Amino acid sequence: MQELTHFIGGAHVRGTSGRFADVFNPATGEVEKRVPLASREEVRAAVANAAEAQVGWAAQNPQKRARVMMAFVQLLNRDMDKLAEALSREHGKTIPDAKGDVQRGLEVAEFCIGAPHLLKGEFTEGAGPGIDMYSMRQPVGVAAGITPFNFPAMIPMWKFCPAIACGNAFILKPSERDPSVPLMLAELMMEAGLPAGVLNVVNGDKEAVDAILDDEGIAAVGFVGSTPIAHYVYSRGTAAGKRVQCFGGAKNHMIIMPDADMDQAADALIGAGYGAAGERCMAVSVAVPVGEETADRLIAKLAPRVEALKIGPYTAGNDVDFGPLVTAEALSRVKGLVDRGVEEGAKLVVDGRNFRMQGYEGGYFMGGCLFDHVTKDMDIYRTEIFGPVLSVVRAKSYDEGLALAMDHEYGNGAAIFTRDGDAARDFAARINIGMVGINVPIPVPLAYHTFGGWKKSAFGDLNQHGPDAFRFYTRTKTVTARWPSGVKEGADFSIPTMG
Ligand code: NAD
Repeated sequence: MQELTHFIGGAHVRGTSGRFADVFNPATGEVEKRVPLASREEVRAAVANAAEAQVGWAAQNPQKRARVMMAFVQLLNRDMDKLAEALSREHGKTIPDAKGDVQRGLEVAEFCIGAPHLLKGEFTEGAGPGIDMYSMRQPVGVAAGITPFNFPAMIPMWKFCPAIACGNAFILKPSERDPSVPLMLAELMMEAGLPAGVLNVVNGDKEAVDAILDDEGIAAVGFVGSTPIAHYVYSRGTAAGKRVQCFGGAKNHMIIMPDADMDQAADALIGAGYGAAGERCMAVSVAVPVGEETADRLIAKLAPRVEALKIGPYTAGNDVDFGPLVTAEALSRVKGLVDRGVEEGAKLVVDGRNFRMQGYEGGYFMGGCLFDHVTKDMDIYRTEIFGPVLSVVRAKSYDEGLALAMDHEYGNGAAIFTRDGDAARDFAARINIGMVGINVPIPVPLAYHTFGGWKKSAFGDLNQHGPDAFRFYTRTKTVTARWPSGVKEGADFSIPTMG
């Protein structure tokens, strides 16, 4: 069986802790690789190595650093098929969806080619007599990223591309469920011209995460994953004096107004609810039709389409809508939540629990499930299911639908489908959620805007990618410089003012 490695100091390094995790192919249920789980000492050694490499990297001019990103983008395009295959094999998502995962990371690398412009800083000429004032954006030093299983290409790139373009060195601790693609990305960064030690991949579990959070050599930590771990990482990292941003779970609502184009809304819900088997933090998991008649029309359109969803292994190429769940535990957890919904009294209109994939009996497949008459006190409404399960909660009015989304503890994304500009505008203005779609079900902002939720979907300041990432991975230093001419005035004992 293949034994994966860490990637430290520009080379693959075998794990020395003696601890490993199995890496499965979710379509077959077979263990195909094992990944080393780093010890505290291994993390420490990687950080020390990164700190050394960072000094030279930060000293390179920003244009040269940007050229590495330029070359990296070309290499990602060259290896797109290879990366997508490796990604689908460990995650289970379809090949077109895996390419989207790489592409959405690649676009952040493209944005980072503009780093010299974003790092220019500010300058005031003549802030006082003979005085100029300027602010510089300097790298924080060594930064770390802890990433989830569901986007093993995109989210690592969201983290390390801006951090490295700013002149930092980086420690990536990817998910232990699908670690191959992050290792391939590190190889490509080296091929693109990144000096050894600037990007390191340390595989591991809680022990490696705790070592990162406690390490005095790490100045900033970016995390993406479930909310309880996001909160834990934020609390422990900030207590250690680090700059920390953590992005957590979600329960994204889509309001369907009576005037919405119902075919368009049903299409949107099928893609956004069931794509990637619902394992997306921006998946729509709650549909809120406004009015009984709207709800009946929506269910009539959705039910046959959920029944007709094509489920299968990624090797079937474009012929499948979604693949298996990531692990056996994820499958039994999601099925358990569907059982719970039935117990709680929601109406299971389409039941995908007994789906079997012929020839892939060991895989973690389940069919799409559709619940109607879900109410806000139910566990299936409150919990992030993270599976191919859509809940319909019927609202009597627009205000009731809006209040549902606003009262939920998560605040990642929300959408409204309507032909009424007034309702759409009101929704965008009032909703307490970070990313909003108007007739767009998955409103993931593009690389040059920023990505981040509100409420329990994010902890800390600043969002991911876009200009915020350049603020997060740099520190501001402001210099006040005086080049006096003429007579020196002597000491001044009151706080300087420029008025
Ligand atoms: P997870 O929280 O289980 O794992 C995320 C990372 O934390 C992994 O690297 C893992 O090794 C590490 N980790 C796990 N348990 C830990 C512990 N006890 N202590 C320290 N570290 C630990 O999340 P996941 O299952 O990999 O990913 C799915 C979750 O991520 C969902 O909740 C999803 O909504 C969320 N997500 C959020 C966003 C966003 O931007 N808001 C994006 C993608 C995924």
